[in-house]
Amino acid sequence: MTSSAELHKRRGAAVARGVGSVVPSYVDRAAGGTLTDVDGREWIDFAAGIAVTNVGNSAPRVVEAVRAQVERFTHTCFMVAPYESYVAVCEQLNALTPGGFEKRSALFNSGAEAVENAVKIARHATGSPAVVVFDHAYHGRTNLTMALTAKNMPYKHRFGPFAGEVYRVPVSYPLRDGGLSGAEAAARAIETVEKQVGAENVAALLIEPIQGEGGFVVPAPGFLPALRRWATATGVVFVADEIQTGFCRTGDWFACEHEGVEPDLVTVAKGIAGGLPLAAVTGRADLMDAVHAGGLGGTYGGNPVACAAALASIETMHELDLVAAARRIGSVATDRLRAVADRNPGIAEVRGRGAMLAVELVRPGTLEPDPATTAAVAAACHAAGLLVLTCGTYGNVLRLLPPLVISDTDLHRGLDILDAAFHS
Ligand SMILES: *Cc1c(COP(=O)(O)O)cnc(C)c1O
Repeated sequence: MTSSAELHKRRGAAVARGVGSVVPSYVDRAAGGTLTDVDGREWIDFAAGIAVTNVGNSAPRVVEAVRAQVERFTHTCFMVAPYESYVAVCEQLNALTPGGFEKRSALFNSGAEAVENAVKIARHATGSPAVVVFDHAYHGRTNLTMALTAKNMPYKHRFGPFAGEVYRVPVSYPLRDGGLSGAEAAARAIETVEKQVGAENVAALLIEPIQGEGGFVVPAPGFLPALRRWATATGVVFVADEIQTGFCRTGDWFACEHEGVEPDLVTVAKGIAGGLPLAAVTGRADLMDAVHAGGLGGTYGGNPVACAAALASIETMHELDLVAAARRIGSVATDRLRAVADRNPGIAEVRGRGAMLAVELVRPGTLEPDPATTAAVAAACHAAGLLVLTCGTYGNVLRLLPPLVISDTDLHRGLDILDAAFHS
């Protein structure tokens, strides 16, 4: 087999430099909680392809469903000649997402595309232009979603001009906002919107219930419910971006459930289809159906192979009770991470929920972010065979996103490597 070193050389001459990779090892195969590279080295997977393979890589039901669908037909375009699996995925989404009201769904290819469509729907339904987003938010890399995303490097740098009518307000970030309560942080955000934008000009308030790329920031309790109440009172469409948090990741089907928040619209992608590209907007039937026939769509949106994979993934989540699995991973890993933090004064906080966990690194005794140590710890993990990611506006957060089917043995092996990496 061609070695990673050789492939990396070929890549340099063929693949655009702007597309990066966390590790220079090329994958040969992957299953459950591990990857094996072309050099025969096994990796413990704490990335899950960025919270995508929640059911594990090449999950048996997914493989079977994809194989069967590929043999029947690969593409007709739902806008040309429709098929059952698209409808079935929408039924599943309408039933699984928070909120007992009547819902509709539409399917797309990527998270960014789902977010763009949620904004289109909210604008169409309200007749208002503005979109409110938060500090540290990440919503994608297309033109509109770059505008919605907070961080300049690497996502936005020199890629402007960006779309207009996007307004950014402060989020609840308990470690860094002086301990504001959820209600206080929400009041601060709402006051900013009312003073600077005006509720009647706002189509949508768009929020990740736990921020992903921005640093796995868990808002103080009460923050999301207070924003939800304000949106209800003002007629602003509350859009939860559950692209990273969805599909059992946080120990609930969707992270909004934790505080009983029912969004008007939900965007999903990543974990939905076991690794095949699929995304969706699901929400209140009156909002979704406000859009004229033909106003939403795309050539590949709800591709039949991706839909088959989604249905098989959802079955797997039920069958293996991945909600419970995420909670168990959360409790095992949180205990171990707290023990690591007790021995490392550079860890300011262990946070997250379920199998979406992070540690934030600072210079000991301060809140000054320490991206250099964060990168060094991640590199030591990679050298020892653990695939772990960093994130955060300041690049000082190590995040854990294992597949929810990871074995206890692999989970502990990975945590052993992470623990040791702080002392290498
Ligand atoms: C990854 C992500 C997106 C963008 O999804 P893509 O499929 O990469 O376009 C949007 N929002 C959140 C919260 C994400 O984590």
